[in-house]
Amino acid sequence: MKDTLKHKGMRNKLANILADKGIVSTKVLEAIKTIPRHLFLDSSFEDHAYQDKAFPIGAEQTISQPFTVAFQSELLEVEPDHKVLEIGTGSGYQTAVLLHLRAKVYTIERQQELFKKTSRFFTKMGYRPKKTIFGDGYKGLPTEAPFDSIIVTAGAPFVPNPLLAQLKIGGKLVIPVGLDEQIMTLFTRTSEKEFEKKEFGSFRFVPMLEDKN
Ligand code: SAH
Repeated sequence: MKDTLKHKGMRNKLANILADKGIVSTKVLEAIKTIPRHLFLDSSFEDHAYQDKAFPIGAEQTISQPFTVAFQSELLEVEPDHKVLEIGTGSGYQTAVLLHLRAKVYTIERQQELFKKTSRFFTKMGYRPKKTIFGDGYKGLPTEAPFDSIIVTAGAPFVPNPLLAQLKIGGKLVIPVGLDEQIMTLFTRTSEKEFEKKEFGSFRFVPMLEDKN
């Protein structure tokens, strides 16, 4: 599959749709305009890649809806060289957005099939996360902590304590919390022991599962 002017045109339209839905960060909208989302999907979905929808990516998982990716990315307030931990690599699309924002990205995936497929895809495309990890996101990544921000891209039944513990002071955790439906929740670490919590609208994610390995 290739990236063409037609795809670029569709991406510009998608960015306008996301702006209409309330995304204001020009950096995030630029990422949406730049990243070839159709290449992150199976070719059978290519025609739909620039609709604001989630799609299956195998192993019962989905690529998140572009609005959701943009919304979470905006909440993270990524600055160049921020150390960012992503839980749920999936297709790698959210990873690519974070890389476009010039973050140093560490990304964890617990489905081996997806982990392998997406790691190969990053290499092929020249996307360079600092580390792709096959493992359980509930534990975070203590060896690389603390992080400027942590993003969870699966629905978490509860907020895992290790993720809060691995934030820098001033760091942010963006996590959708809930079972059938999730409330987008932003935690900001205001001191060693204190966190400020803000809640946003409801979203639907595939579940954040506990480790089987
Ligand atoms: N960011 C991805 C979203 C994929 S869906 C994208 O843009 O495509 C969520 C992903 O989280 C799935 O790939 C799922 O396998 C993964 N996941 C679920 N529970 C996990 C856990 N405990 N640790 C790491 N990844 C997990």
